[in-house]
Parts: sequence; structure tokens; C-alpha cells
Amino acid sequence: MTTATGEKRNEPTSSEYDVAIVGGGAAGLSAAVFTSRYDCSTVVFDRGPSAIHRCYNIENYLGFVGIDPQQFLQLGRAHAQYEGCEIVDDLVETVERPEALDGEFRLETQQSETVTASRVIAASAYTADYLSSLDDGAFHEPGTHPVDCDTATGRTSIEGLYVAGWLSGEPHQVIISAGHGARVAKSLITDLRVEAGFWDEVASYWDWRVAGGTYGDAGWNEHIEEWVAETIPEEESIADERRERVTEAIIEERRSFQLSEKAREQRTADSRQLLETHLLSDE
Ligand SMILES: Cc1cc2nc3c(=O)[nH]c(=O)nc-3n(C[C@H](O)[C@H](O)[C@H](O)COP(=O)(O)OP(=O)(O)OC[C@H]3O[C@@H](n4cnc5c(N)ncnc54)[C@H](O)[C@@H]3O)c2cc1C
Repeated sequence: MTTATGEKRNEPTSSEYDVAIVGGGAAGLSAAVFTSRYDCSTVVFDRGPSAIHRCYNIENYLGFVGIDPQQFLQLGRAHAQYEGCEIVDDLVETVERPEALDGEFRLETQQSETVTASRVIAASAYTADYLSSLDDGAFHEPGTHPVDCDTATGRTSIEGLYVAGWLSGEPHQVIISAGHGARVAKSLITDLRVEAGFWDEVASYWDWRVAGGTYGDAGWNEHIEEWVAETIPEEESIADERRERVTEAIIEERRSFQLSEKAREQRTADSRQLLETHLLSDE
């Protein structure tokens, strides 16, 4: 993969996405890294008032003694784009879920773009008036925040709609907002996996890297099958077809967690390049 360097885009390249994220601050961008890595087609819309622009210098984000908020966001954008997400500089004006769209959300933007998405993450910090027509106006009262949600997971009473970052009522600090975006994206991914037949314990296990050759040695398949069987909740009886399907999916997934030395070196080099471009260069 080539290194994305913060490409500017004013319109989406598609009219349909798996995940649409409203707000490209720490929470929205962090969520986008996770959903993109799960191969969900992801678009982030970002325009409008941002809390981070009022912060003069970020001095409490792990690894940074002091970083300019603008550079921090550029780095975050470049990382999310590197993982495959699209970032569109446009303001979302409405999010609706018309019956005709069979559970999909429809987002309309200030520049008259319309996209549909199966899931939406609202990560717009101060304002969420674009949600006010959902549930016939009962879901969100315009002019108010935070938005009503389960703060730990970001899930809301509207299936497929999640809230991340400051908008959820989480304490405001950039590192907390970034962590919350990741947490909410993981809830969304867990929900997708549960829908696909994964039971809870295996549904939330995802996204890490191990050295190539770690999974797949002799006896490994039996070991993983045993492990998967042990995770099945006792009160549930899992049909053979489902057990086999999930076990196979997990075996394949674990193999994909393996990273060759070459791929690891490439990512390290790409990471350095992003830092050079967005933080260390004098331009
Ligand atoms: C004065 C001040 C100083 C601060 N200082 C610090 C500090 O020193 N250290 C620290 O860690 N934290 C600090 N914070 C807190 C920090 O800024 C927030 O915790 C963090 O920015 C929240 O991240 P977020 O992603 O939830 O929201 P934001 O960073 O605000 O991102 C939300 C994004 O959504 C966009 N948006 C909004 N509505 C829409 C829409 N309808 N369509 C498209 N895009 C939309 C906005 O433009 C914005 O880019 C400070 C905050 C303030 C106000």
C-alpha cells in the first residue's frame, strides 16, 4: 500500500458505505481506523466547529510532550486514509432512516451530496442537530448535547447508530476521545460479527498482529477448534453448521493476523513517512 498523505476531498467517491462517520476529530478518525481495518467501507465527513482547534497545544497525549492540534489532526487523517477510509470535507445536515431504505441510513450534506450507510457514528462533539429527525423527532432535541447513548459502547436506542467522543458525554481530553472512538468502533464491529453468527466471546476478539508463522503450525487447527468450542456459552446450543462456520472464519482470521518481517518493516517505514510529512517537515 502506498502512503496516503492527507488527500483533500470535497465529495465522496461512492453513494453507499458500510459506515459513515460524522466528525473527523480524534474520536471520528480513531473510529475510522478501526472500521477501515475491518474492511468496512468507511467515509468520514468533517466540517464545522471543532473543540481541538480551541486547544493551543496538546501536551497530555501519550508519546507527545507537545503537539500542535492541527498537525495532530493531519497525522490522524493520514493514518485513517492509509487504512482505507475516505475523508470528505463537508458538513452533514441530516441523517435519516426512511422506511424505503430497509434499515439503511441516508446522509445529506451541505454540498448536496447524498450517501447511504448501514451504520453511522456521530462524533461531532458539540452539535448533533442532523440527528433530530430520527425516530420521528423523538431521538434528539436540537441544540442539546451530549447525545443519549450507552457511554461505554456508544450504542444508542437506534440500531446501527453510535455516538463517540465528546458528543457521548465522555470527559474531554484528546486521548480519551481517541480511545473512545476506538471503543465505539469495536462495539460496531462486534455487532456486525454477532449478526454474522459469532457468539459474544469470540465476537469481540479482533485486531492484533503476531509474527508470521505463529498460527498454523502442526496441531494448531485442533487447538483453535478446542478453544472456540470452550467459548460457546453453556446456555446456548449452537447448531453444527454455525459452529463450523464460525470456527473456519476464526481460523482464517487468526492467519490474517500474522505479519511477515517484510510487511512489518514496510509499515514502520510508512509510519515514519507520515510523521515526516505531517510533523517533522518544515513546510
Ligand atoms: C479551549 C479548549 C482547550 C482544550 N485543551 C485540551 C488540551 O490541552 N488537551 C486535551 O487533551 N484536550 C483538550 N481539549 C479537549 C479536546 O479538544 C476534546 O476532548 C477533543 O477535541 C474531542 O474530540 P472529538 O473527536 O470528540 O471532537 P472534535 O475534536 O471537536 O471533533 C469533532 C469534529 O466534528 C466536526 N463536525 C461537527 N459537526 C459536523 C457535521 N454536522 N458534519 C461534519 N462534521 C462535523 C467538527 O468540525 C470537528 O472537526 C480542549 C478543549 C477546549 C474547548
